Amino acid sequence: MTCEPCTRAQANPLTGWFNLLCLDCCCRLIESTRPSVEQRELAFEAIARMPGAPSRRQIVARLAEQRTGEGMAAKSTPQGLKTPISGNNPMQPR
Ligand SMILES: [Zn+2]
Repeated sequence: MTCEPCTRAQANPLTGWFNLLCLDCCCRLIESTRPSVEQRELAFEAIARMPGAPSRRQIVARLAEQRTGEGMAAKSTPQGLKTPISGNNPMQPR
């Protein structure tokens, strides 16, 4: 399920090459625009114009997943976002 740009990005995350039909590529594209909100919106628009591309909702959901997977490396935003993991995490320690 991995496309060529994704494979290359594993070796070199700065390929700047994205397959807009691939959810992972779209995520990388969106992430690469940080911290510019304007750039991010432009990227979302470009993706939305591509027939067959993942929806913004899918991308946002995937990014949220990746972010929670990364743990608390980054300083938490003052939004008080607490993700309920009950029933959603089979690897939950006791
Ligand atoms: Zn990809």
